Amino acid sequence: MSILQVAIPKPLHNYFDYLPPVGIDVNQLVPGMRLQVPFGKNRYIGILIDVKKTSDFPVNRLRPAIKIIDLEPILSTNDLKLLKWAASYYHYPIGEVIKTALPTALNQGLPANIKPLIGWKLAKTDLKLDSLPKNASKQKEILELLQQHPQGLTQTVITSSIPNPTSSLKTLHKKDWITKELIFPTLRKLVAKPSHLQLNPAQTEVLNQVCTSLHQFYPGLLDGVTGSGKTEVYLQIIQEVLNQGKQAIVLVPEISLTPQTVRRFEQRFSIPIATWHSKLTKTERLHTWLLAKDGIAPIIIGTRSAIWIPLAQPGIFIVDEEHDSSYKQQDTFRYSARDIAVVRAKQAQVPVLLGSATPSLDSLYNASYQRYQHLSLPERAGTAIHPTYHIVDMRHQPRKENLSRLLVTAIRQRLATKQQILLFINRRGYASTLTCYKCGWVAFCQHCDARLTYHETSKNLQCHHCGTMQSLYAQCPECKHTKLYLLGQGTERIEEDLRTKFPNARILRIDSDSTSRKNAMEEILDKIHAGEIDILIGTQMLAKGHHFPKVTLVGIINVDSGLYGSDFRSSERMAQLLVQVAGRAGRANEPGEVIIQTYHPDHPLLTRLVHQGYPAFAQAALKERHKAAFPPYTYLALLRAESTSKPPIEFLERAKQLAQQSENVQLWGPVNSPMEKRADWYRAQLLLQALQRKHLHDFIAQWLPCLPASDNQKVRWSLDIDPQDLF
Ligand code: ADP
Ligand code: ZN
Ligand code: ZN
Repeated sequence: MSILQVAIPKPLHNYFDYLPPVGIDVNQLVPGMRLQVPFGKNRYIGILIDVKKTSDFPVNRLRPAIKIIDLEPILSTNDLKLLKWAASYYHYPIGEVIKTALPTALNQGLPANIKPLIGWKLAKTDLKLDSLPKNASKQKEILELLQQHPQGLTQTVITSSIPNPTSSLKTLHKKDWITKELIFPTLRKLVAKPSHLQLNPAQTEVLNQVCTSLHQFYPGLLDGVTGSGKTEVYLQIIQEVLNQGKQAIVLVPEISLTPQTVRRFEQRFSIPIATWHSKLTKTERLHTWLLAKDGIAPIIIGTRSAIWIPLAQPGIFIVDEEHDSSYKQQDTFRYSARDIAVVRAKQAQVPVLLGSATPSLDSLYNASYQRYQHLSLPERAGTAIHPTYHIVDMRHQPRKENLSRLLVTAIRQRLATKQQILLFINRRGYASTLTCYKCGWVAFCQHCDARLTYHETSKNLQCHHCGTMQSLYAQCPECKHTKLYLLGQGTERIEEDLRTKFPNARILRIDSDSTSRKNAMEEILDKIHAGEIDILIGTQMLAKGHHFPKVTLVGIINVDSGLYGSDFRSSERMAQLLVQVAGRAGRANEPGEVIIQTYHPDHPLLTRLVHQGYPAFAQAALKERHKAAFPPYTYLALLRAESTSKPPIEFLERAKQLAQQSENVQLWGPVNSPMEKRADWYRAQLLLQALQRKHLHDFIAQWLPCLPASDNQKVRWSLDIDPQDLF
């Protein structure tokens, strides 16, 4: 008797047993294949985990699977091993874990093969690029790219290395330079162009270290200031990995905002880089996945979930900007792609590189205990030099001014010498608070425990947590006073200030409002690089990996929310953001200057950061974590619960009672969450803390099955292992 053990995407922690589909030779069945199975009244796509001889259920009650979908497994034994590990580490249902790891098309049961797509191809082989008009540089770039890829490229692939190509493609099409046809996204043979860059000694050292360890697990923390040449090192290491016929996965925080990363890889290797991110279509994602699995795509660049893409010949995993919080999924299956990368590299016995100019305290801690190799690039590559910092005490500035005298003077100087200026403010919109001075009323969101932000562009109030919008109050709803005040600054207000002070400057705002339109970010980046912008104002979007070589002045409008944030990671995040934003300045030959505005100029973490640099800050911050017994010195899990009537404290109390007493695991709470209500859900949480990871996990494994099932009508809950914040 053969029993099929199947994982199904249901919130249940076990596998399900089925009989083989009728008329199927059991020898055909291999773990890792998809099956269609009945479940309740529905049909599901499941993954075959094992073929067993017995079942814990009476065999006559087992139902047969409906059919096999794949002729060959889509997940290898190693892939399944990783997924099983993740399910047990995150205490998350295996079927849901697998669903996260598979592209949508495969979850929907579509065939696991590559279909031709509409794409662009060169119409002729002998290109006379000189005959193009002088100003048609984008057309030229497209033609050169297509010349490297005679099999043709889809528009999305072209867009990932040449931003915003639509109109140039149309023109080229009209002029019969290119044709539109069905193409197969196969990759042609690799022709890596050797780098013309001579690595500096620090880079060479890193390259050698990693390249002598390509056949073993080698976790490296690549700690290098912005512009120190980390990407160049990745490129040269990958070159070696490819020479050995192996593949690389490179994780980046935000691919659609940084097309230049993909472009840099393409230019170096002359191969279409397989990408993976949310802007791709379902079919394109399927293709990336299959090309990687079959060993055809040598390099895959993608965001968080790319860490699940199977590789035929894993060679290296690289996590760029490893400190970035986007690597942790913040809902449902709350995994950390950075941590998975390390586990995956260990399973595959290959190196993993975690790169950052501002490494997370977790990784620095691991490096200090030799769990990771600490690789550093202390100097900027090429000729660029470190920026100088100034802290401005806003208590001694004219009241009601958002921009300090020093900052205004510095901006004026840069405008006079035609250099670019970047101003950073961590809030979009115009003002963060609408208030009545007479009675003290403040405009709150009806659905959240949060203030409404006023947006000048749309002239309304918005909640940044649930998306609610409403019109501006004409009078105070409490005391009917008609004069209301807008407090706090956002990007729009700073933009307004600048337009008043510098009416002739060309000013551009970058936040999720101004970049929501498709390709908006690419257009903006084009403008900045072409020197068509004098002053850029933006949110943390600006901190993410962009190179702005013409920027020589960076202003941080207000650093204080990070200094006094309510979370144990607030100051770490503030420091990373500040250093990352500052790192955008002076990347070319001009020295950069950074002006930081604050009401707390003597804050010890801020002064340490500014006067002694990020490593000294990190040491001090780690000491504080140690004292407070927070990660990385302890291990945390957070049971988050939500209910529609009131914070589910009782539920959590009961959950706490269901837990076994343990000397090794402490339970803190339950307490209402810092943001008590969000999108009409009332929130509370229970914190678990242990000195050893194993104790925490053994405890949870016993405890979790005792908890009542999550219920969308009453109380729903989720467990966050290694939470990034306690919100
Ligand atoms: P990071 O990834 O650390 O920000 P990059 O690799 O992007 O740094 O390098 C920053 C700049 O310095 C890039 O323009 C790069 O081409 C250049 N660069 C990197 N390594 C070298 C080198 N060894 N010699 C000269 N220029 C270099
Ligand atoms: Zn009032
Ligand atoms: Zn809200």
